[in-house]
Amino acid sequence: MRHNPDGDNVDTDFRAQTGTTDFDRIRTDDAAGLYVHLPFCRNKCLYCDFVTFSLGRQAEPYLAAVEREAIAIGAQQDPAFARFDSVYLGGGTPSLLPAAAVARLLDRLHTVFTITADAEITLESNPEDVDPQAAAAWIAAGVNRVTVGVQTVHVRTLAAVRRPGGPAAVSAAVAALREAGVGNIALDLIVGLPDEGPTRWAESLEFCLGLRPDHVSMYLLDADEHPAVARRIRDGRWRMPPDEAMADFYLHASARLAAAGLPQYEISNFAAPARRSRHNLKYWRLAPYLGLGVAAHSFDGRRRWWNERRLQVYVDRTAASRRAEAGEDAWDWTRRAREFVMLGLRLVDGVSRAEFQRRMGRPFPPEWAAVLKKNIVPSLVLDDNGTFRLTPQGMLVSNEILQELFDAN
Ligand code: SF4
Repeated sequence: MRHNPDGDNVDTDFRAQTGTTDFDRIRTDDAAGLYVHLPFCRNKCLYCDFVTFSLGRQAEPYLAAVEREAIAIGAQQDPAFARFDSVYLGGGTPSLLPAAAVARLLDRLHTVFTITADAEITLESNPEDVDPQAAAAWIAAGVNRVTVGVQTVHVRTLAAVRRPGGPAAVSAAVAALREAGVGNIALDLIVGLPDEGPTRWAESLEFCLGLRPDHVSMYLLDADEHPAVARRIRDGRWRMPPDEAMADFYLHASARLAAAGLPQYEISNFAAPARRSRHNLKYWRLAPYLGLGVAAHSFDGRRRWWNERRLQVYVDRTAASRRAEAGEDAWDWTRRAREFVMLGLRLVDGVSRAEFQRRMGRPFPPEWAAVLKKNIVPSLVLDDNGTFRLTPQGMLVSNEILQELFDAN
């Protein structure tokens, strides 16, 4: 007999509602996603919170450690990871690694795991690393989707946040990728970098649209979440636009992207349905994913866990046949239900109450439904035949709506 933290008798509730006792993980029909963290960067961008290291001589032992971790996990034959239909090489800056190392890594992953023939295989790149030879080698290795970190086309802003790149490098990168046959190119933008405002954001957006990308990610920089940025604002070195200007631009950009054939599908992501990021959708839909590498996170439908953040410790542990895992978040129905709603509401497809019940094994909590319904009149939420969705205005205040939702339970 299990009890959740609210004191409910979980098994009895579940039996009453579904007639089954199989209730210890989120149900899914999706194949899993495979993420590999490649944490090396040329330098540290000022706003970056990811676990990154300079390339140095660490790449080779690190990649060998990732291979060891893959082999050890593959040997466990966890049914949650029986089949992968997406592979995501993220970072860090995966494009910084020699293309031959990327090819070897993908080859090993194919040996260890069952990766479907039609898998989406993404590599994150910075524009200055992309040339025709690298692009051709990635394609030959099986990569079929490349993201390019544009952020802004204004080189002075890029310099202020310690990033290389710029419009000439981005144009050349996209041309090289297309020439090599990459059919799925995603461009990443950041709105809210220092000393930029709506005119400059629009220039970056239009520049990207001129390159006819298949996918655009547009992140709103929240200075409060980045201490180095917040410090520079406080001491007057950087000026930041008011929140209202960012909100107005977000709504303008959503409409502009939709008109250009890239409708919004997630709070920060825009693409036609066939070009949505299959891999990232697994995070938002709570499908299983396996993360390899330093600081990588995994989820098997039941528990979450994360790897050691210290590079050398990660390498040493895998060498000693010890697990790289550093912590876990065990199964808890209420926590997973919150994640289901919190992540699902990021998507324009929203959260279907029928799907919630099918996958979570219990009806959608009535207190949560009441909060969402309360937000229909101020035009922040839609209830579309049993599916709750945030409107574009609702997406701008999604944190507040979620806070209200979870305070209700
Ligand atoms: S390139 Fe990306 S991962 Fe590397 S430091 Fe900059 S923002 Fe962080």
